[in-house]
Amino acid sequence: MKIAFIGLGNMGGAMAHNLLKAGQTVYGFDLSEKALKHFADAGGVVCSSPQQAATEADIVISMLPAAKHVREVYLGETGLLSVMKAGSLCIDSSTIDPQSVKDVAAAAAQKGIAMCDAPVSGGTIGAQAGTLTFMVGADAQTLERAKQVLVHMGKNIVHCGDVGTGQVAKICNNLILGISMAAVAEGMALGAKLGIDPEALAGVINSSSGRCWSSEVCNPWPNISPNAPAARGYQDGFATQLMLKDLGLAIEAAGQAKQPILLGGLVQQLYQQMCLQGNATLDFSSIIQQYLPQQAQG
Ligand code: NAD
Repeated sequence: MKIAFIGLGNMGGAMAHNLLKAGQTVYGFDLSEKALKHFADAGGVVCSSPQQAATEADIVISMLPAAKHVREVYLGETGLLSVMKAGSLCIDSSTIDPQSVKDVAAAAAQKGIAMCDAPVSGGTIGAQAGTLTFMVGADAQTLERAKQVLVHMGKNIVHCGDVGTGQVAKICNNLILGISMAAVAEGMALGAKLGIDPEALAGVINSSSGRCWSSEVCNPWPNISPNAPAARGYQDGFATQLMLKDLGLAIEAAGQAKQPILLGGLVQQLYQQMCLQGNATLDFSSIIQQYLPQQAQG
């Protein structure tokens, strides 16, 4: 089976590495020399273009920043769909809007190529450990074919429904995550200001009804959750600019569906403010800095 992997960044690089560790031959392409070097060091076959990687591939996996990159890579006269063989399969794991994946899937179907969306949860740690959750939008037959490779990169493969529904699940999850992180940051900062020890407060929250992933696993207050980005200056986590992008996707989808998402709009402005302040690449839990005086920041 020939596998092509397009987009070998923080997530894609680690995912491709796990395919290689599972004994698969992987043909890869990225615009970044650094990403290609890591891929080559791990045993991947470096290609000079996405087209070269995808020609004769049975499965193409993409892990790209945003919808415009996914559209550029797959569609158009020189897009991957123009070189891929009939009967092959595309799996896009990027987080993008549901309509874009439906558009690419429709174009793929015209060429006899199957496509599914399989965005992920679990971050760079999950990508490295091969423990990602994949949210798959596909028909049953395509799902079974995709599983052949997804099992090497993740531990939970959730079938969400038809193509596009994986992205729906992903953006709804991240809408809740963006709001819950802001809520925990607000509560932790208020508690500290009112005089409770942050560790004691986190202990209460995590054994009470305020408990959530943001309070327990990724608490924004420094040194509450072991290994959380807050303990290392908010480096190497889920970048604020990516959370901002995902909230934008939720707001866009809600607008199209004429569905209100009030809190999502509010926290989007907080993450927007952080990006404006030069913190776009810090982990999104650094949102707590919006609530703290300078000297108390982690
Ligand atoms: P990244 O920026 O580290 O990697 C993206 C890679 O795509 C880069 O190496 C870039 O050079 C490459 N690229 C861009 N255009 C390309 C093209 N035309 N051809 C080939 N390569 C191209 O981003 P990431 O953190 O790996 O995230 C990728 C996707 O996964 C995003 O949609 C993101 O929202 C999603 N995601 C990220 C995380 C996380 O924790 N980082 C978690 C879940 C989902």
